[in-house]
Amino acid sequence: MSSKRALITGVTGQDGAYLSKFLLDKGYEVHGLLRRSASADVIGTRLKWIGVAGQINLHDGNLTDLSGLIRVLQEVRPSEVYNLAAQSFVKSSWQQPLLTGTVTGLGAANMLEAVRIVCPEARFYQASSSEMYGLIQEPVQSEKTPFYPRSPYAAAKLYAHWMTVNYRESFGLHASSGILFNHESPLRGIEFVTRKITDGVARIKLGMQETLALGNMDAKRDWGHARDYVKAMWLMLQQETPDDYVVATGRTVSVRDFCKLAFEHVGLDMESHVTVDERYLRPAEVDVLLGDPAKAKDKLGWTAETTLEQLVAEMVEADLARLKQHEHL
Ligand code: NDP
Ligand code: GDP
Repeated sequence: MSSKRALITGVTGQDGAYLSKFLLDKGYEVHGLLRRSASADVIGTRLKWIGVAGQINLHDGNLTDLSGLIRVLQEVRPSEVYNLAAQSFVKSSWQQPLLTGTVTGLGAANMLEAVRIVCPEARFYQASSSEMYGLIQEPVQSEKTPFYPRSPYAAAKLYAHWMTVNYRESFGLHASSGILFNHESPLRGIEFVTRKITDGVARIKLGMQETLALGNMDAKRDWGHARDYVKAMWLMLQQETPDDYVVATGRTVSVRDFCKLAFEHVGLDMESHVTVDERYLRPAEVDVLLGDPAKAKDKLGWTAETTLEQLVAEMVEADLARLKQHEHL
């Protein structure tokens, strides 16, 4: 039996796949919470892509079902719990605000409660988000910057963040909150702007479509690579003392500039292919996010290793390869 046993909620998501790979490479026994779906064929697509599908112990469960979470924790007895599951798409959170609150907010409270009841000695990671800064109160956001959520998603994440802090302070849980800025990869959901762009660019390059419709091209994000960011999650749980950390690159660029880089990578001119469609605008926008990762660097020895240019190239190449092989993700 390996000494380190991790339970990951959201194991089928982008970060779940990268974190599973990272922990398996470190010799962990990895368990994942899997919510039941009628579409068995799409389960674990990301885990397959990253090459770990058969190596994860999957357990039926849903973040909204406390009794199920308790049962899974009793079975697994993990030393580390990574709570990555969420309704994670900001735009959808206006269409499904209550579901988002239930899963993304109360779901995290369920997980904390289950840990407190079953295995209070386990170390707990909460996937918090830079979206909590929303209408930014400082030009560069650090752990000390006040929050101002701008979507039901961000409000739910803020509740989960404060519950994590509260369980640490109330019950002495080793609970850390990683305030991660946007991070992307070939495994990013297709609805997020970066992947929508790299998939669109690949389709246009291969003659499968002519245009790409986007929303607010002026929004700016601090984009990093998921592979780098899951390492920061793990580092937080290796510290003697739990804490909260901003994880970011310290560089922000606009959607327009990300798009330009992607088109340039395949030798195409963006202006001839991109249109703006109001359907992709949001009721309230987060105009710009820029993180200060100084604390993560000082305390965890963590820095982002992948440049934006490398990230864009990797994503476009992966989408080109996928489309040529008629694969979908
Ligand atoms: P994804 O959307 O790719 O993955 C979300 C995961 O949550 C999926 O495995 C999904 O399962 C699971 N899930 C959703 N609802 C439930 C539920 N009710 N019960 C159990 N599992 C559920 O997200 P990412 O991997 O990109 O992000 C991981 C976490 O980090 C999320 O909490 C996200 O909000 C947060 N975050 C992400 C950032 C980013 O830039 N990627 C930035 C900051 C925070 P299924 O496969 O069945 O849909
Ligand atoms: P978010 O930061 O978690 O909301 O990640 P997204 O990738 O969904 O969006 C990042 C930014 O891109 C937001 O400011 C969006 O308004 C902007 N954006 C512009 N066009 C689009 C689009 O077509 N789809 C998405 N998802 N976002 C877009």
